Amino acid sequence: MLEGEHVHLTADAVYAAARELLPEISLATVYNTLNRLVKMGEVLEITAGDGPKRYDPNTTTAHHHLYCVECGALRDVRPEGTEQLALKVDQRHGFELLDVEILFRGRCPTCRATMGDQLRTAGQLD
Ligand SMILES: [Zn+2]
Ligand SMILES: [Zn+2]
Repeated sequence: MLEGEHVHLTADAVYAAARELLPEISLATVYNTLNRLVKMGEVLEITAGDGPKRYDPNTTTAHHHLYCVECGALRDVRPEGTEQLALKVDQRHGFELLDVEILFRGRCPTCRATMGDQLRTAGQLD
């Protein structure tokens, strides 16, 4: 179920897809398997906005995310300049750093088009 770029499924979505192939599979099995894959480093766990956790199979290429605040769409992106991103020792509060996640928030083309239509209908745009 989890393969490729730009794939960020919720546990419910993985469950729905898995059931097409294995009708007897349980949601608990899906959760357990996802948790195990995350611990093994095979799958990334992403929290974006206030939605449910998403699971991302793209662990081979370092990437960050672009998130639509309207519909929750997530895209894989590789921002420039992140190699220079650093946290000075006095900013680490004694933490051992493991990784960094950058989330760009915005509106996707579909939502932008929908909002444009709504504004036009309301007579606020030509
Ligand atoms: Zn959107
Ligand atoms: Zn991703």
